Amino acid sequence: MQHHTKQRLKAGGRDLTLRLCTGGGVLLGLLWGFNNPPAPKKPPTCTTANCVGDVVSKSLSDGVWSVLGPALIGGAIGLAVALVIVLTLLRPRRGGGPSSGRATNLSGRWIQAKYDGRCAGCRRQIRRGDPIFHSPAPRRTLCGACVDRLTNRV
Ligand SMILES: [Zn+2]
Repeated sequence: MQHHTKQRLKAGGRDLTLRLCTGGGVLLGLLWGFNNPPAPKKPPTCTTANCVGDVVSKSLSDGVWSVLGPALIGGAIGLAVALVIVLTLLRPRRGGGPSSGRATNLSGRWIQAKYDGRCAGCRRQIRRGDPIFHSPAPRRTLCGACVDRLTNRV
């Protein structure tokens, strides 16, 4: 159970980094867009209502995009930065490749020991009624501590 909590915390940190960087990027892009307004275009002189409407909507969308564009770019840059941070600093596992020798992919089930015996991992005495983990292949019986040790390796 503690293992899962730890993983969730780690995932939360990644999520937070992504959000912070993307949000910061969008914010910086917005600021940049506000500080660098597009060069005002001289509206062509026209008299018809259609023409005026076109010019207004055109300049309006221009203004929107002059802010939205940098915001999107900033967000994309922030996202890229966040991904780099997540992939480099918050790498979920470091070292400890699969060459550690012991098989960690346990397959089996929890049962109650029917007989006295010994744990295949630590040779601890297992008494009848103890909760043990029985794995068919390789055939062995593990006590709870050993299962924890094998599955929660950091
Ligand atoms: Zn054991």
